[in-house]
Amino acid sequence: MNCYNHEEKEAVAQCSDCGKGLCKECAEKYQAVNLIICDDCASARNNYDKGTFTKTIVMAVVAFVIGLVISIVMGLPAGGLIVFSILTACVPFGWRVLTKVTPKLFLFMPVIRVAYLFCY
Ligand SMILES: [Zn+2]
Ligand SMILES: [Zn+2]
Repeated sequence: MNCYNHEEKEAVAQCSDCGKGLCKECAEKYQAVNLIICDDCASARNNYDKGTFTKTIVMAVVAFVIGLVISIVMGLPAGGLIVFSILTACVPFGWRVLTKVTPKLFLFMPVIRVAYLFCY
């Protein structure tokens, strides 16, 4: 097999995403980020990451507003209101990290927090 980019060069590796042949030069291109990957898959991954990040930010803003509305409805004092909103805004970020580790457990986190607030 030859490199998908350089037909004259022999492939020494394969793209870890699509399996295309990569020559030494192409295989080392994304070494800095520890990936053996072709240009197409690299840009596809890049777009995916950006999309996920934007989505997380949007979710955080939405969660913040929801947290704010909930705390106003619950009549929390200003301090609690801000803390509660910020905690809620962190949910999407925590979600991203925790869904990889404990997918189900994290579903109960907001419930626990609301329960705690009610008791408090
Ligand atoms: Zn590829
Ligand atoms: Zn190449």
